[in-house]
Amino acid sequence: MGDTLFGKIIRREIPADIVYEDDDVLAFRDINPQAPVHVLFIPKHAVATLNDLSADHAALISKLFLAATRWAKQQGFAEDGYRLVMNCNKHGGQTVFHIHLHLLAGRQMHWPPG
Ligand code: AMP
Repeated sequence: MGDTLFGKIIRREIPADIVYEDDDVLAFRDINPQAPVHVLFIPKHAVATLNDLSADHAALISKLFLAATRWAKQQGFAEDGYRLVMNCNKHGGQTVFHIHLHLLAGRQMHWPPG
């Protein structure tokens, strides 16, 4: 796949407000936050869209979700709750083609989304 701005953030070529990092996952604050807490969890190994996932990515996806849920607990808002979202392609509202998990917290969420 082609490079994206998230690849540049992983390589520290452009700045980001990084809140979490391990060998496989990087997390940083969204530049256009939709909630008091809005963090993007991304795999360091780039996959363009959810449609590109295969069984080979099972461990990677697991690590992404576990990083986000552990971080939510560490930050102290897990009991109040939060929302995890992954957008896919045009109708999903995806704008950056390196899969990412949005973690939104700090306010009441509503359903259905717009
Ligand atoms: P999506 O629309 O699901 O592809 O989400 C992409 C997200 O990346 C959006 O919420 C953007 O606000 C966010 N974003 C775009 N550029 C940056 C950046 N340089 N640093 C942090 N977040 C960004």
